[in-house]
Amino acid sequence: MTDASAPPISASPLKLFNSLTRSLETFEPVHPGEARVYSCGPTVYNFQHIGNMRAYVFADTLGRTLAFKGYKLRHIINITDVGHLTSDADAGDDKMEKAAALQGKSAWDIAAFYTAEFKRDLNWLNVRDPAKWTVATDYVARMIEFAKHIAHTHCYELDSGLYFDISTVADYGRLARAVTDDGEGRIDEVEGKRHAADFAIWRKTPAGETRQMEWDSPWGRGAPGWHLECSVMGEAELGMPFDIHTGGIDHREIHHPNEIAQNQAYRGCGGLDHAEHSGARLWMHNNFLIDRGGKMSKSSGEFLRLQLLVDRGYHPLAYRLMCLQAHYRSELEFSWEGLGAALTRLKRLVMAAAPVRDAEPAEITDRRLTDLLAKFDAAISDDLGTAVALTLIEEVAAMKKIDAGQKRAALAAMDAVLGLNLAIIARTDLRIRPKAAAIANDEIEAILTRRKEARASKDFAASDALRDELLAAGVEVMDGDPLGWDWRLGD
Ligand code: AMP
Ligand code: ZN
Repeated sequence: MTDASAPPISASPLKLFNSLTRSLETFEPVHPGEARVYSCGPTVYNFQHIGNMRAYVFADTLGRTLAFKGYKLRHIINITDVGHLTSDADAGDDKMEKAAALQGKSAWDIAAFYTAEFKRDLNWLNVRDPAKWTVATDYVARMIEFAKHIAHTHCYELDSGLYFDISTVADYGRLARAVTDDGEGRIDEVEGKRHAADFAIWRKTPAGETRQMEWDSPWGRGAPGWHLECSVMGEAELGMPFDIHTGGIDHREIHHPNEIAQNQAYRGCGGLDHAEHSGARLWMHNNFLIDRGGKMSKSSGEFLRLQLLVDRGYHPLAYRLMCLQAHYRSELEFSWEGLGAALTRLKRLVMAAAPVRDAEPAEITDRRLTDLLAKFDAAISDDLGTAVALTLIEEVAAMKKIDAGQKRAALAAMDAVLGLNLAIIARTDLRIRPKAAAIANDEIEAILTRRKEARASKDFAASDALRDELLAAGVEVMDGDPLGWDWRLGD
């Protein structure tokens, strides 16, 4: 319901958890009235699993919250199409080249295919497009310039490439709370590195080999290091320091500490007691989605992709709601039962909001609504308290004796943050056919019509026979169901 009157600019100060200081901080933008956010995006060598998608639901909720608070948002998400090795700690093959070899395609085709799949998943989850998608391979010239700027003072060259010397910056690894050098169990797999945690800025193509993706540089033909990409794209698009850098919690350990070290070097900054020296005022990380069944690993054959959820008959927005039920800094355990419960909850909300969907939005003056909006604002301003925010939108949706236009406007203001698309989706949209279902929707509807006729003429034998016919095809008829499902496909 984004077409409603502007949400009231809210009174609660926005508090966000900064991973760098491990504390809640009041958001103060670098540029008054603006919020500049960079989110580490996917490496497009495979489909994203639903755990990855949690990272973008989080970044989207953050962006929507900043907009709700009245900031002009500039959000950047990158696409990593080169440079990410199979181990974050600089070892192994380039993920893109490896996938290309496995599938017998070019790395460029692999990138194009998985980028499109990723964007479709985002769309399904109602994650808004960023101001710009920055694609790593478009920024290689800038990466080389950045690397030239720090090479003499902070890097050293080996046969395999140009490496960043972590001892040349103050407070290396503070974000990870790791002991420098050989903390975090890193294995020094690159011959000649000064410290185990030193990382590649530029990876030379080994003599006698060619890579599909390689460029000339002062350190020979090769490809950029993964960490370099994000420093360069963030600086290019948002300036430094910018406001907020996001990613999954795994990035708190290696990728972001390395980005920070590069930023300190590039900008000639001192230590991290001054958070802005890191390149961003706030570093925010979503916790993991976990699956005890082990289906989150991309190497496990059929892994948990959004498509799989849809194939099993779950609307993607049920997954979004499932994410919002948890705090982004908590682990969230995936289960099909949990997803089913989230779908039912979404359906109740959609049905409760439906009667005011077409009402003309009106200025919100009713005290009950302004109170609930203030509570909503307080919840979301408390480090994105989406779980409480959800209960408040449900409270508004359930209100009966209330002006329809005002109710609609209040729901729209709240849904602009939660992104459940209440203005668009209808109850029937939430009924998705599982791929394995043996009977088509229109056949089901036709049998149900015949059954209604049979019941109307009190032919209960015929009515029961038709119900049994549906049951045999895996369809459960739900007479008098308060949720109004009418029928559903069984498991
Ligand atoms: P990648 O494509 O591996 O760079 O990951 C994309 C994003 O997903 C990164 O921000 C990761 O930190 C995040 N991520 C990876 N696994 C999970 C998970 N199980 N739950 C939540 N976020 C994850
Ligand atoms: Zn990144």
